[in-house]
Amino acid sequence: MAAAIAHRQAGRQVTVFEAARTVGGRARAVPGVLPDGTVATLDNGQHILIGAYTESLRLMRLVGMDPATALLRLPLTLQFPDGQGLQLPDLPPPLDALLGIARAKGWGWQDKIALLRTATAWQLRGFRCAPHTSVADLCAPLTPRLMAEFIDPLCVSALNTPAREASGQVFLRVLQDSLFSGRGGSNLLLPRTDLGALFPEAAVRWLVQQGGQVITGQRIQRLVPLASGRWQLVGAVGAVGTAQGAEAAEPFDHITLACPSWEAARLVEGLASTAGLAAAARWGATASALRFEAITTVYAHASGARLPLPMLALRNTAEHPAQFVFDRGQLDGQQGLLAFVVSASDGDRALIEQQVMQQAAAQLGLPGLRPVQTVVEKRATFACTPGLQRPAMQVLPGLTACGDYVEGPYPATLEGAVLCGTAVAACAAAG
Ligand SMILES: Cc1cc2nc3c(=O)[nH]c(=O)nc-3n(C[C@H](O)[C@H](O)[C@H](O)COP(=O)(O)OP(=O)(O)OC[C@H]3O[C@@H](n4cnc5c(N)ncnc54)[C@H](O)[C@@H]3O)c2cc1C
Repeated sequence: MAAAIAHRQAGRQVTVFEAARTVGGRARAVPGVLPDGTVATLDNGQHILIGAYTESLRLMRLVGMDPATALLRLPLTLQFPDGQGLQLPDLPPPLDALLGIARAKGWGWQDKIALLRTATAWQLRGFRCAPHTSVADLCAPLTPRLMAEFIDPLCVSALNTPAREASGQVFLRVLQDSLFSGRGGSNLLLPRTDLGALFPEAAVRWLVQQGGQVITGQRIQRLVPLASGRWQLVGAVGAVGTAQGAEAAEPFDHITLACPSWEAARLVEGLASTAGLAAAARWGATASALRFEAITTVYAHASGARLPLPMLALRNTAEHPAQFVFDRGQLDGQQGLLAFVVSASDGDRALIEQQVMQQAAAQLGLPGLRPVQTVVEKRATFACTPGLQRPAMQVLPGLTACGDYVEGPYPATLEGAVLCGTAVAACAAAG
C-alpha cells in the first residue's frame, strides 16, 4: 500500500492486485472466538512499532489515521513479571539510556558497566562493524545475564533471528536509529486497533478516493513482457487489467512486485525461463536464496486477567518459548485477552501452544487462562544473517520490487517495508 500511495502521488494510475480477500499481508487482522463464544479480533501476529518508524507514522497520518490515538506510546521497557529489567525514563537521548541502564532492576554494577562500556565503543565506531560479525560476536564483552535479559530479547524482537546467527551490522543500525534518532525514537508504539484498521484499510480508502483501484482475491500467476515494453499480468483465469469487461486486460507501463520474496522470485524466475532474461535469473536466484524465520502468536483468555503493564518480557527457554506477552485489554479493550509472542519459533503449533500455556502458569500465575487461537507464520521474516545478499529494487526496465526483504538497512519490519514502498516510485521513474 505504501508503494501504491507513492506511485499515485507521482501522478500514475494505480491498480493493486491482492491475492488475499483482505489487505494487510503479514500484518493483518484475523477473526477469532473467545472460549465463551464471544467474537474477537486478533492479528496474524502481535506487532510492535517504535518511535523511530517515521515513515510508517507519516503514511498513517497521510491516510487519515492519528498515530497518537491508534498507538499506545510507552518508553522502551523490557520488564519481567517480577519487576526486574530495563525501563527507560522519558528523557532525550542519551540520558534516557544512561539513566535507564543505571536504574535497571536485577542487574549488578558489573552488568551495567559492561553494557555502558560496550555501547560507548559501538557509538565511537559510528555503529559500524565488519559485515560478517554476528550479534553474539558484537556482544562478547557483555555478561551472561545481559545477554539473557537484554540482548537476546531485543535481538529476537527486532531481527527475529537468534543473536548467534543475527547480523551485527543490521542490529547496530536498529540500535542507532532507535536510541539516537532523537527524543522518543526508542519508544514502543503498541497498536490500539487491529492491524487491518491501523493502516492498510485506511490506505485502500485513500487510494480509491485518489482514483486508484484495489482488486482483492486476484493472485498474479505470471508476468508477460510485451514487445511494446509494456506488461501483461496473468491471473488464475487469464490476463487481468484495470477493470472488468472488454478493456480489462489493457497492458501496464510498469509493474511493482509488492509481494513476499518467494512469490516475487517465482514470478521473476518464470520470466527468466520464458523470456530468457539473464538479469531476471540473477535477481530470482538472490531472492530465492533467502531463508526464513517463523513467529508464533498464542492468544489466551481469562476473565479478569490483567498484566501490570501492557507488555511484559518473559524469561524464555526451550520449554518456555515465549519472549513477550501483551495485554490486549490495555491496548484495544479486549479485556482478559493476552497475546504471547514466540519469535524465531520452532516446532509445531500444538506443542508451542501447550508450552506457552505452561510458561504462562509458571511465570504469570493467572488462574483460568485458556488458549484461544495460535497463529504460526512459518515465513514471518527473512533470517537476518551477517553479510546477507538481498535483491535490488530494480529488477528489469519497467519492473521493480519492494518489500521488507529488498536491499536496505533494516531487518524485516513494517518500517523497512514501507520505506521501500515509498522509494520504489522514484526508482520506477528512473528505470
Ligand atoms: C507474526 C509476525 C509478527 C511480526 N512482528 C513485527 C513487529 O512487531 N514489528 C515489525 O515492524 N514487523 C513485524 N513483522 C514483520 C512485518 O509484518 C513485515 O515485515 C511486513 O508486513 C512485510 O510487508 P511486505 O509488504 O513486505 O509483505 P507482505 O505483508 O507479505 O505483503 C505482501 C502482499 O502480497 C500479496 N501477494 C502475495 N503473492 C501475490 C500474488 N502472486 N499476487 C497478488 N498478491 C500477492 C500477499 O497476500 C500480501 O498481502 C512481523 C511479521 C509477522 C508475520
